[in-house]
Amino acid sequence: MPWTERQAQVLQAMGLRLWQPAAAALAAAPVPQAPGPAQAATSAPVPAPVPVRSSAPASALSQLDWPALREAVAGCRACGLCESRTQTVFGVGHQHARWMVVGEAPGEHEDRQGEPFVGASGQLLDAMLRALGLSRADDGPPEQRVYIANTLKCRPPRNRNPAPEEMLKCEPFLVRQIELVQPRIILAMGRFAVQALLRSGEPIGKLRGRVHAYQGVPLVVTYHPAYLLRSLPDKARAWEDLCLAASVAEAEPAEPAQR
Ligand code: URA
Repeated sequence: MPWTERQAQVLQAMGLRLWQPAAAALAAAPVPQAPGPAQAATSAPVPAPVPVRSSAPASALSQLDWPALREAVAGCRACGLCESRTQTVFGVGHQHARWMVVGEAPGEHEDRQGEPFVGASGQLLDAMLRALGLSRADDGPPEQRVYIANTLKCRPPRNRNPAPEEMLKCEPFLVRQIELVQPRIILAMGRFAVQALLRSGEPIGKLRGRVHAYQGVPLVVTYHPAYLLRSLPDKARAWEDLCLAASVAEAEPAEPAQR
């Protein structure tokens, strides 16, 4: 998405790197930039996938298609969150998106509307995605498609942190969603998404800025939008993370079918 001159000035004034799709970037005059951590990491080899250990019966879901999986989530009573939820929050976006964004858990708005990231942090997430030319709408061209899901499909009461037991019970749903989407890149937002997908308790600041892998899918770690709403300095770092993820998503996959 080409920036208007005004947008470019604002972003540069904020100290943020401009991102352009490869074609536009090639056409544009090169802008000298100091190598940031994200850029340095782009050329680093993608590490081997971290083995996934789940206590929940992921195999029971491994044959489900989208409608069956959605139904399984809607009827889930595997943990106590089913008692307090208004409804489950399955996921949104294109079912074969290039990008998959993984957040934490539904909040009050998501619980009411049945869609992930519709509150204040969702607005920030949408703005960040829009800046990369991406959208949660499922009718856009392939390069714009994103699928958004949470680690937990039900709202924890009063937005408390997910409990380890709840995460384990819910994890097979996310695992199957990732299998079905087959994204080119996973963006793990916040520590609970990171715990679920990388089995790491390391701080986001230590994990961001390089490409990890989840079951062979490249994965970039970044801050949760709710945190970014409170921390302006880390917004610039999150933008670097999104640019890193974009560079991975743009690279033509060797296999399987290209989308
Ligand atoms: N925060 C999340 O992690 N997910 C949502 O859906 C909303 C807020």
